[in-house]
Amino acid sequence: MRFVFLGPPGVGKGTYASRVAPILGIAHISTGDIFREEIKKETELGKKVKSYLESGQLVPDEIVIEVLKQRIEEDDCKKGFILDGFPRTIKQAEELDKITKIDAVINIVLDEDLLVKKISARRICRNCGKIYNIADIRKGEIHLPPIAPKKEGICDDCGGELYQRDDDKEEVVRERLNVYYEQTAPLIDYYKNKGLIREITVTGGPDKMVPVILKIMKEYE
Ligand code: ADP
Ligand code: ZN
Repeated sequence: MRFVFLGPPGVGKGTYASRVAPILGIAHISTGDIFREEIKKETELGKKVKSYLESGQLVPDEIVIEVLKQRIEEDDCKKGFILDGFPRTIKQAEELDKITKIDAVINIVLDEDLLVKKISARRICRNCGKIYNIADIRKGEIHLPPIAPKKEGICDDCGGELYQRDDDKEEVVRERLNVYYEQTAPLIDYYKNKGLIREITVTGGPDKMVPVILKIMKEYE
């Protein structure tokens, strides 16, 4: 089972992928998480990519593709994987086609107003990377309830400190959305032409959406 989760920043790709991957016994690969980890550890790779993440620009294709190639060779990918945040350009998608066959691309859709609200409310555990959301967001029929920790600022799972990603601040968020529309959204047509797109519109929190996503993914088991 090999999936791509596609969608704008803040749509919930990371949250959904981290919930469904363990259920299906496949790996969750987030290129953004890999880069943040490398930056934190101050590795050579971390130094190379830092300025791109800070400004909301994409890391150059050659760097990302190399990282991805190595990652999907690892043992935990034998049963399959979810790519969360990769590919993000047509070039990356073409390279991916050369190295592996994808079963389906789950395109996750959410109203743009709500994306910005949701990203501003996102908090992450500094230690384990678990994603929280501190706002209660509503628009029409859509309701995204908060995913709050039991104790403010503290991760339920590991006791780590919750923080806001620097690139989740308003100015950088706008830039990331522009980058998404210009460079990543064309992938929807790219994968439509290959007959791989499965679309999911977000209308609620993970408790509502995860079963919907899981049902589609199980068709490929
Ligand atoms: P989000 O989906 O919320 O924007 P990610 O964690 O996926 O966040 O990505 C954060 C940053 O990491 C991006 O803004 C970009 O700088 C870099 N990045 C992650 N994946 C890729 C990729 N496939 N290609 C280029 N840059 C990437
Ligand atoms: Zn944690």
